[in-house]
Amino acid sequence: MRTTSPSNVLVTGAAGYIGTTLLRRLLADGARVIALDSLERGHADQLPREVPLVVGDVRDPDAVRQALRLFDRPPDACIHLAGLIQVGESTLFPELYRDVNVVGTQVVADLCLEAGVPALVLASSAAVLRPLAGVADRLDEDAPVGPESPYGASKLNGEYTLRAAADLGRMATVALRLFNVCGAAYGLAERHDPETHLIPLSLRAAAGELPPLHVFGEDFDTPDGTCLRDYVHVRDVVEAFVRAARLAMHQAASGGCEFNVVHVGTGQPRSVREVITACEQILGKPVPRVMHGRRPGDVAALVANPSKLASLLGIHPDPDLARMVRDAAASLGLLDG
Ligand code: UDP
Repeated sequence: MRTTSPSNVLVTGAAGYIGTTLLRRLLADGARVIALDSLERGHADQLPREVPLVVGDVRDPDAVRQALRLFDRPPDACIHLAGLIQVGESTLFPELYRDVNVVGTQVVADLCLEAGVPALVLASSAAVLRPLAGVADRLDEDAPVGPESPYGASKLNGEYTLRAAADLGRMATVALRLFNVCGAAYGLAERHDPETHLIPLSLRAAAGELPPLHVFGEDFDTPDGTCLRDYVHVRDVVEAFVRAARLAMHQAASGGCEFNVVHVGTGQPRSVREVITACEQILGKPVPRVMHGRRPGDVAALVANPSKLASLLGIHPDPDLARMVRDAAASLGLLDG
C-alpha cells in the first residue's frame, strides 16, 4: 500500500471523544483538517485552535457544503464520526437515531461524491452484528449482521450507504466497526456527555465523583454472568482511521474503488467484572456498585476477530486492559494524590 497519509481531511463529529483524539493524530502528520460538529454533545474546548470549525449538523447539506468549501481543492478524505452512539438511548428514541445516523451519513456521502472527495471512512459499530451463540467466538467481517438495537440498525444502514457510494466507482469507502473504544491519548480525557461508558463510570464512581455503578445484568450466558466486550485503546482506533483513509485514497487513485469493512478490536473478551477489577487495581479503591437489570439492547458478547485489521491496515492493537484503564484514569485526573 502507498504510504502517503491524507493531507487534507474533513472530520465530522470532530469535537467528540474519538474526533478530538483523531485531530491530534492528523495534525501530527502535518495534515490540514477542517472540523464539522454540531457541538450538541461534543467538547469545543478540546478542539485544537488551529483547526477551523464549522458548527453544523451533518443532516444539513448547507453545513456540509460550507465545510467542504473551506478546502482549496477537494479534501483527500472525509472521516465521518458524527452520530449518536448510545445503544440504550436508541431504544427510547429510534427515530432520532435513524435521522441523525442514517440521514446524516447519506448527506455526507452524497456531498462528498458531489465535491469529488475520493475517500470516505465511517465510524460504524460492532452493534451491527448478530451475536453468535458461542460467547467465545470472535466475530470477523463475514459474520452475519443483525443489529439488536436501533443504534446498530442505523450504523448498518450507514454501511450500506458507503457500499452504494463505492459502487459508483468514484470514491473508495471503509466502514470501521468499532468495538469498545476506551483509554485516552494526547492529554485528552475519556469524556462523553452524558457519560454512559463502563470504564469512566467505574473510575469516577470509585473516586466518589459519581454515584455507584449500575451493573447491567449478571445473568448472561458468560463465564461470570456479566457481558463480554472487546476494549480497544483510542490511540489504536485513531490510527485505524488514518490508515483506512490512506487505503481508500490509494484505491481511488488506482481506479479500484472498493467498499471495505474492518473490525477494530483486540480479540480479547473482557467481562464487566474484569473491567471493574482493573479499575479497582489502578485506583487502589473499590468501585461502589449496585446490581441492576439488563440494559435494553445489550447482548452477551461482542468480541472482534482482529485479523483483517492487521492484514489490511497493519494494526496490531495493544490488548493491555490495565494500560487502557490507567490512561483513562490519568486523563480524568484520578491518579494524582
Ligand atoms: N455497563 C454497565 N453499567 C454501566 C455502563 C455499562 O454494566 O453503567 C456494561 C454494559 O452493559 C456493557 C459494558 O458495560 O456490557 C460496556 O458498555 P458501554 O456502554 O461502555 O459500551 P457498549 O458495549 O454499550 O458499546
